[in-house]
Amino acid sequence: MLQQIIQAIRALFQSIFGSAPSPRINAEPPLEKPQDASELDPIPNDTLLVIERLEEVIDQAAALKPVETLDSSPEVPVTKPSGRYAWCLDNGHGKLTAGKRSPLFDDGVTRFFEYAFNRDIVQRIARSLTQHGIEHLVVVPEEEIGDFLEGRVARANDWASQLPKCFVSVHANAGPVPDDTRDWSMASGAETWYYHTSVSGRKLAAVFQKHICEKTGFRNRGIKSQATKQFFVLQKTLMPAILTENGFYNNKTEVLFLMSEEGRQKIADAHVAAILEIEQNGL
Ligand SMILES: [Zn+2]
Repeated sequence: MLQQIIQAIRALFQSIFGSAPSPRINAEPPLEKPQDASELDPIPNDTLLVIERLEEVIDQAAALKPVETLDSSPEVPVTKPSGRYAWCLDNGHGKLTAGKRSPLFDDGVTRFFEYAFNRDIVQRIARSLTQHGIEHLVVVPEEEIGDFLEGRVARANDWASQLPKCFVSVHANAGPVPDDTRDWSMASGAETWYYHTSVSGRKLAAVFQKHICEKTGFRNRGIKSQATKQFFVLQKTLMPAILTENGFYNNKTEVLFLMSEEGRQKIADAHVAAILEIEQNGL
Protein backbone atom coordinates (compact mmCIF):
# COMPACT_ATOMS: atom_id res chain seq x y z
CA MET A 1 0.00 0.00 0.00
CA LEU A 2 2.75 2.42 1.05
CA GLN A 3 4.76 1.52 -2.05
CA GLN A 4 1.75 2.30 -4.25
CA ILE A 5 1.27 5.69 -2.62
CA ILE A 6 4.95 6.54 -3.08
CA GLN A 7 4.80 5.47 -6.75
CA ALA A 8 1.64 7.50 -7.29
CA ILE A 9 3.28 10.61 -5.79
CA ARG A 10 6.43 10.04 -7.87
CA ALA A 11 4.30 9.69 -11.03
CA LEU A 12 2.44 12.89 -10.17
CA PHE A 13 5.70 14.81 -9.67
CA GLN A 14 7.12 13.45 -12.92
CA SER A 15 4.00 14.47 -14.79
CA ILE A 16 4.39 18.00 -13.47
CA PHE A 17 8.16 18.51 -13.41
CA GLY A 18 9.45 15.83 -15.78
CA SER A 19 11.88 13.13 -14.71
CA ALA A 20 14.31 13.89 -11.90
CA PRO A 21 17.28 15.93 -13.11
CA SER A 22 20.70 14.36 -12.90
CA PRO A 23 22.92 16.02 -10.29
CA ARG A 24 24.67 19.14 -11.58
CA ILE A 25 28.40 18.82 -11.33
CA ASN A 26 30.40 22.04 -11.21
CA ALA A 27 27.45 23.87 -12.74
CA GLU A 28 28.47 27.08 -11.01
CA PRO A 29 31.87 28.33 -10.00
CA PRO A 30 32.53 28.24 -6.25
CA LEU A 31 31.47 31.40 -4.45
CA GLU A 32 34.47 33.59 -3.86
CA LYS A 33 34.65 35.12 -0.44
CA PRO A 34 37.38 37.71 -0.29
CA GLN A 35 37.65 39.20 3.19
CA ASP A 36 39.71 42.31 2.63
CA ALA A 37 41.96 44.22 0.26
CA SER A 38 45.03 42.10 0.95
CA GLU A 39 43.32 39.25 -0.92
CA LEU A 40 42.76 41.18 -4.13
CA ASP A 41 45.44 39.83 -6.35
CA PRO A 42 46.97 41.16 -8.42
CA ILE A 43 46.73 44.80 -7.44
CA PRO A 44 49.94 46.50 -8.45
CA ASN A 45 51.51 48.41 -5.63
CA ASP A 46 49.72 51.69 -5.07
CA THR A 47 47.36 51.35 -8.01
CA LEU A 48 43.94 52.63 -7.07
CA LEU A 49 40.82 51.14 -8.56
CA VAL A 50 38.65 54.12 -7.82
CA ILE A 51 39.73 57.46 -6.52
CA GLU A 52 37.11 60.08 -6.02
CA ARG A 53 37.17 63.55 -4.64
CA LEU A 54 35.82 62.96 -1.19
CA GLU A 55 34.19 66.36 -0.83
CA GLU A 56 32.34 65.79 -4.08
CA VAL A 57 31.04 62.42 -2.91
CA ILE A 58 29.81 63.91 0.34
CA ASP A 59 28.14 66.80 -1.47
CA GLN A 60 26.46 64.49 -3.97
CA ALA A 61 25.12 62.22 -1.26
CA ALA A 62 23.89 65.18 0.77
CA ALA A 63 22.04 66.48 -2.28
CA LEU A 64 20.33 63.11 -2.75
CA LYS A 65 19.22 62.79 0.85
CA PRO A 66 18.66 66.07 2.66
CA VAL A 67 19.57 66.12 6.34
CA GLU A 68 16.59 65.51 8.60
CA THR A 69 15.58 68.33 10.87
CA LEU A 70 14.16 67.64 14.30
CA ASP A 71 10.74 68.95 15.18
CA SER A 72 11.48 71.82 17.55
CA SER A 73 7.89 72.28 18.72
CA PRO A 74 8.01 72.54 22.54
CA GLU A 75 4.69 70.67 22.97
CA VAL A 76 6.09 67.43 21.53
CA PRO A 77 8.12 65.46 24.07
CA VAL A 78 11.42 64.13 22.73
CA THR A 79 11.14 60.37 22.70
CA LYS A 80 13.76 59.61 20.07
CA PRO A 81 16.70 57.47 21.14
CA SER A 82 19.89 59.41 21.70
CA GLY A 83 21.42 58.16 18.46
CA ARG A 84 20.21 58.07 14.91
CA TYR A 85 21.79 54.78 13.76
CA ALA A 86 22.73 51.40 15.20
CA TRP A 87 26.34 50.54 14.40
CA CYS A 88 27.58 47.03 13.71
CA LEU A 89 31.30 46.97 14.56
CA ASP A 90 33.06 44.10 12.82
CA ASN A 91 36.63 43.01 13.59
CA GLY A 92 37.13 41.20 10.31
CA HIS A 93 39.08 38.06 11.25
CA GLY A 94 39.54 35.63 14.12
CA LYS A 95 42.58 34.13 15.78
CA LEU A 96 42.17 31.01 13.65
CA THR A 97 42.12 32.90 10.32
CA ALA A 98 45.07 31.86 8.17
CA GLY A 99 47.69 34.48 7.30
CA LYS A 100 46.83 38.06 8.25
CA ARG A 101 50.05 38.60 10.16
CA SER A 102 53.25 40.53 9.58
CA PRO A 103 56.62 39.00 8.76
CA LEU A 104 58.79 38.33 11.79
CA PHE A 105 60.54 41.40 13.13
CA ASP A 106 64.33 41.52 13.33
CA ASP A 107 64.24 40.20 16.90
CA GLY A 108 62.99 36.89 15.48
CA VAL A 109 60.08 36.82 17.92
CA THR A 110 57.72 39.75 17.39
CA ARG A 111 54.92 39.58 14.87
CA PHE A 112 51.82 41.70 14.25
CA PHE A 113 48.51 39.81 14.15
CA GLU A 114 45.68 41.52 12.31
CA TYR A 115 42.85 39.84 14.26
CA ALA A 116 44.23 41.26 17.53
CA PHE A 117 44.67 44.74 16.07
CA ASN A 118 41.15 44.77 14.58
CA ARG A 119 39.68 43.66 17.93
CA ASP A 120 41.55 46.28 19.87
CA ILE A 121 40.37 49.08 17.57
CA VAL A 122 36.77 47.83 17.66
CA GLN A 123 36.86 47.68 21.48
CA ARG A 124 38.15 51.26 21.64
CA ILE A 125 35.40 52.42 19.27
CA ALA A 126 32.75 50.51 21.25
CA ARG A 127 33.85 52.06 24.57
CA SER A 128 33.64 55.52 23.09
CA LEU A 129 30.22 54.92 21.51
CA THR A 130 28.94 53.73 24.89
CA GLN A 131 30.09 57.02 26.40
CA HIS A 132 28.30 58.91 23.61
CA GLY A 133 25.09 56.89 24.08
CA ILE A 134 25.22 55.52 20.55
CA GLU A 135 23.78 52.07 19.94
CA HIS A 136 26.26 49.50 18.70
CA LEU A 137 26.96 45.79 18.43
CA VAL A 138 30.40 44.19 18.54
CA VAL A 139 29.58 41.60 15.93
CA VAL A 140 32.20 38.98 16.86
CA PRO A 141 33.44 39.31 20.43
CA GLU A 142 34.90 35.78 20.35
CA GLU A 143 38.61 35.44 19.65
CA GLU A 144 39.02 31.69 19.05
CA ILE A 145 37.27 31.78 15.70
CA GLY A 146 38.19 31.67 12.01
CA ASP A 147 36.89 33.81 9.17
CA PHE A 148 33.27 33.32 10.29
CA LEU A 149 32.07 35.35 7.31
CA GLU A 150 28.52 34.01 7.14
CA GLY A 151 28.21 34.37 10.92
CA ARG A 152 29.35 37.99 10.85
CA VAL A 153 26.81 38.84 8.21
CA ALA A 154 23.99 36.88 9.86
CA ARG A 155 24.57 38.51 13.25
CA ALA A 156 24.53 41.99 11.74
CA ASN A 157 21.48 41.30 9.58
CA ASP A 158 19.60 39.61 12.44
CA TRP A 159 20.35 42.26 15.04
CA ALA A 160 16.96 43.66 15.98
CA SER A 161 17.37 47.38 16.45
CA GLN A 162 14.73 50.07 16.29
CA LEU A 163 17.22 52.23 14.43
CA PRO A 164 18.53 51.90 10.87
CA LYS A 165 21.80 49.95 10.93
CA CYS A 166 25.26 50.62 9.47
CA PHE A 167 28.13 48.12 9.21
CA VAL A 168 31.79 49.03 9.74
CA SER A 169 34.46 46.37 9.28
CA VAL A 170 37.87 47.36 10.66
CA HIS A 171 41.07 46.00 9.07
CA ALA A 172 44.73 46.61 8.40
CA ASN A 173 46.16 45.90 4.98
CA ALA A 174 48.95 43.81 3.45
CA GLY A 175 50.70 44.91 0.28
CA PRO A 176 52.74 43.08 -2.35
CA VAL A 177 56.45 42.54 -1.79
CA PRO A 178 58.96 43.61 -4.47
CA ASP A 179 60.50 40.15 -4.90
CA ASP A 180 60.94 36.76 -3.24
CA THR A 181 63.96 37.84 -1.26
CA ARG A 182 62.04 40.41 0.78
CA ASP A 183 59.34 40.04 3.39
CA TRP A 184 58.25 43.64 3.79
CA SER A 185 56.15 45.76 1.44
CA MET A 186 56.57 49.38 0.34
CA ALA A 187 52.80 49.95 0.16
CA SER A 188 51.41 52.45 2.64
CA GLY A 189 48.33 54.42 3.57
CA ALA A 190 44.64 54.02 4.31
CA GLU A 191 41.72 53.19 2.06
CA THR A 192 38.02 52.57 2.63
CA TRP A 193 35.87 50.19 0.62
CA TYR A 194 32.14 50.27 -0.09
CA TYR A 195 29.66 48.28 -2.12
CA HIS A 196 29.71 49.61 -5.68
CA THR A 197 25.97 50.29 -6.06
CA SER A 198 25.36 51.78 -2.61
CA VAL A 199 25.09 55.58 -2.48
CA SER A 200 24.86 55.52 1.32
CA GLY A 201 27.84 53.18 1.51
CA ARG A 202 29.84 55.55 -0.67
CA LYS A 203 29.05 58.45 1.59
CA LEU A 204 29.93 56.41 4.69
CA ALA A 205 33.23 55.49 3.06
CA ALA A 206 34.04 59.10 2.20
CA VAL A 207 33.36 60.36 5.73
CA PHE A 208 35.41 57.58 7.36
CA GLN A 209 38.28 57.96 4.91
CA LYS A 210 38.42 61.71 5.53
CA HIS A 211 38.61 61.33 9.31
CA ILE A 212 41.08 58.43 9.22
CA CYS A 213 43.54 60.36 7.06
CA GLU A 214 43.10 63.59 9.02
CA LYS A 215 43.60 61.99 12.43
CA THR A 216 46.39 59.55 11.62
CA GLY A 217 48.35 61.29 8.87
CA PHE A 218 48.10 58.13 6.76
CA ARG A 219 48.62 58.63 3.05
CA ASN A 220 45.18 58.88 1.45
CA ARG A 221 44.66 55.97 -0.94
CA GLY A 222 41.06 57.00 -1.55
CA ILE A 223 37.70 55.30 -1.29
CA LYS A 224 37.37 52.22 -3.45
CA SER A 225 34.90 49.81 -4.90
CA GLN A 226 34.69 47.33 -7.71
CA ALA A 227 31.91 45.33 -9.29
CA THR A 228 33.63 41.95 -9.02
CA LYS A 229 35.27 40.22 -6.06
CA GLN A 230 33.45 42.44 -3.62
CA PHE A 231 34.27 41.61 -0.05
CA PHE A 232 31.82 39.14 1.41
CA VAL A 233 30.65 41.37 4.26
CA LEU A 234 29.98 44.30 1.89
CA GLN A 235 28.06 42.05 -0.47
CA LYS A 236 25.86 40.28 2.03
CA THR A 237 25.01 42.80 4.74
CA LEU A 238 21.57 44.36 4.30
CA MET A 239 22.61 47.88 5.31
CA PRO A 240 25.08 50.58 4.28
CA ALA A 241 28.45 48.90 4.83
CA ILE A 242 32.11 49.85 4.62
CA LEU A 243 35.48 48.24 5.24
CA THR A 244 38.35 50.39 6.46
CA GLU A 245 41.97 49.40 5.72
CA ASN A 246 44.04 51.29 8.28
CA GLY A 247 47.61 51.19 7.05
CA PHE A 248 49.80 48.24 6.02
CA TYR A 249 51.01 45.76 8.62
CA ASN A 250 53.66 44.39 6.30
CA ASN A 251 55.16 47.85 5.85
CA LYS A 252 58.05 47.94 8.29
CA THR A 253 57.49 51.56 9.28
CA GLU A 254 53.71 51.68 9.24
CA VAL A 255 53.32 48.56 11.37
CA LEU A 256 55.07 50.35 14.23
CA PHE A 257 52.31 52.95 14.19
CA LEU A 258 49.69 50.19 14.17
CA MET A 259 51.34 48.60 17.20
CA SER A 260 51.62 51.81 19.19
CA GLU A 261 49.11 52.95 21.79
CA GLU A 262 49.06 56.39 20.19
CA GLY A 263 48.46 55.03 16.69
CA ARG A 264 45.66 52.73 17.77
CA GLN A 265 43.87 55.45 19.69
CA LYS A 266 44.10 57.80 16.70
CA ILE A 267 42.63 55.17 14.40
CA ALA A 268 39.79 54.46 16.85
CA ASP A 269 39.17 58.18 17.40
CA ALA A 270 38.94 58.69 13.64
CA HIS A 271 36.24 56.02 13.38
CA VAL A 272 34.32 57.59 16.27
CA ALA A 273 34.61 61.06 14.69
CA ALA A 274 33.18 59.66 11.45
CA ILE A 275 30.32 57.99 13.32
CA LEU A 276 29.53 61.22 15.17
CA GLU A 277 29.50 63.14 11.90
CA ILE A 278 27.09 60.65 10.34
CA GLU A 279 24.99 60.69 13.50
CA GLN A 280 24.75 64.46 13.23
CA ASN A 281 24.24 64.88 9.49
CA GLY A 282 22.59 61.62 8.53
CA LEU A 283 23.28 59.52 5.47
ZN1 LIG B 1 41.77 42.12 7.07
